[in-house]
Amino acid sequence: MTELYRLTIHEAAELLRQRKISSVELTQAHLDRIRAVDPQVKAFTLVTDELALKQAKEADRRLASGENLSPLTGIPVAIKDVISTKGVTTTCSSRMLENFVPPFNATVMEKLNRAGIVMVGKTNMDEFAMGSSTEHSAFFPTRNPWDLERAPGGSSGGSAAAVAAGMAMGAYGSDTGGSIRQPGALCNVAGLKPTYGRVSRFGLVAFASSLDQIGPFARNAHDAALLLQAVAGHDPNDSTSSTQPVADYMKELTGSIKGMRIGVPEEYWVEGTQPGVVQAIRANIELLRELGAEIGPISLPHTKYGIAAYYIIAPSEASANLARYDGVKYGYSYRDTSDMWEAMEKTRANGFGPEVKRRIMLGTYALSAGYYDAYYKRAEQVRTLITRDFEQAFAQFDVLVSPTAPTVAFKIGEISDPYQMYLNDVFTLPANLAGICGISIPGGFSEGLPVGMQLLGNAFAEENILRVADAFQRVTDYHTRWPNL
Ligand code: GLN
Repeated sequence: MTELYRLTIHEAAELLRQRKISSVELTQAHLDRIRAVDPQVKAFTLVTDELALKQAKEADRRLASGENLSPLTGIPVAIKDVISTKGVTTTCSSRMLENFVPPFNATVMEKLNRAGIVMVGKTNMDEFAMGSSTEHSAFFPTRNPWDLERAPGGSSGGSAAAVAAGMAMGAYGSDTGGSIRQPGALCNVAGLKPTYGRVSRFGLVAFASSLDQIGPFARNAHDAALLLQAVAGHDPNDSTSSTQPVADYMKELTGSIKGMRIGVPEEYWVEGTQPGVVQAIRANIELLRELGAEIGPISLPHTKYGIAAYYIIAPSEASANLARYDGVKYGYSYRDTSDMWEAMEKTRANGFGPEVKRRIMLGTYALSAGYYDAYYKRAEQVRTLITRDFEQAFAQFDVLVSPTAPTVAFKIGEISDPYQMYLNDVFTLPANLAGICGISIPGGFSEGLPVGMQLLGNAFAEENILRVADAFQRVTDYHTRWPNL
């Protein structure tokens, strides 16, 4: 048998069901892989080996009795360190929460635990999910398994790298402006951002509440469908979660995209997009045409204002959400003073890193009296225009296709200008502003580095993007390639 860590979730689930392998063996193979390669990749803030083996034993018991099985029973997954795990540190890769042990589980974790997953660890990220490279982790940068000198993307870089390197069969991350899709693209794995409201945000540490969504990383569209299915649906604990019924995603993966209408947004080929990225995606579009899709151009005219609007709205919401870290209730607390104000100031000065401080300052400025109308309100108006662009596009098309990011993985330390870093999100953040769904899947290689292809779908039409992704993967092999580690 090939090394167990190379199996897809589907293959492993089948072998587990037939009792040809045990979850303990499968889990041990992943823990061994972590021991072998994570000292270089550094995807994890915490490896939960003991817990994982305990969960694996329990999964084996369930598998033996045949009771209560889900396709994820006994499957090792990794969890971004922004998702609350009861009794297991949830740091957001920040000094502020370095020792924070949540007293409750995120709804997503409750669902996964009920399904019988095995959690192998918590993954590294840009502090509080602010960034596109995982270099803003307060602990250490994560490295791209395809080239250890390069960044894995971010902010869910640890989750993407863990799946790409075979340290977990799947993972969960969060996407506020691209933080699942962009690291997925840079690490050659599938990363899906669900529609706003499709997955509960209860227990997801808030960055920008009107944009945040939890979603899966996987090695193919099939596995992504399973991982989404396990966490999608309404949650009374999250009033923004939708009551819309959840589709049976696996059933929608028919392999056929004949007659599906796929739009190519004209504005998604901006200057600065690397020629190798453009070439790869253009070739893929031809392939989709050969598979029977009807391809046509579409204009999303307000795309060019997306970055400006996002970098007002996201920091504004962040500045409000992060006000809770005052050193009083939980997290890091500066205590070496008798003055309350000084304690709060020092707590925040020492607890937050530079990018988080930048966002808080931007956000409080944009929301302050006199500037609110000029910045925040106008950004929300632009958001409405971007949403309408997509509404019109989805009246004509089922799915839109574009590059996920303008470049392949960049070197660690290469991008020092924050604005330059923000430009990474140009193709991903409009979907968050509009609340629609998107997936990035492996779309080829340029100079040996992965290129991601983004498929965008209308709100609550995850089955469409998954179907196109799956059909594409049936005739390509980019997603089956492994980095040399
Ligand atoms: N890179 C974007 C930012 O820094 C998006 C982050 C995210 O999706 N969490 O805000």
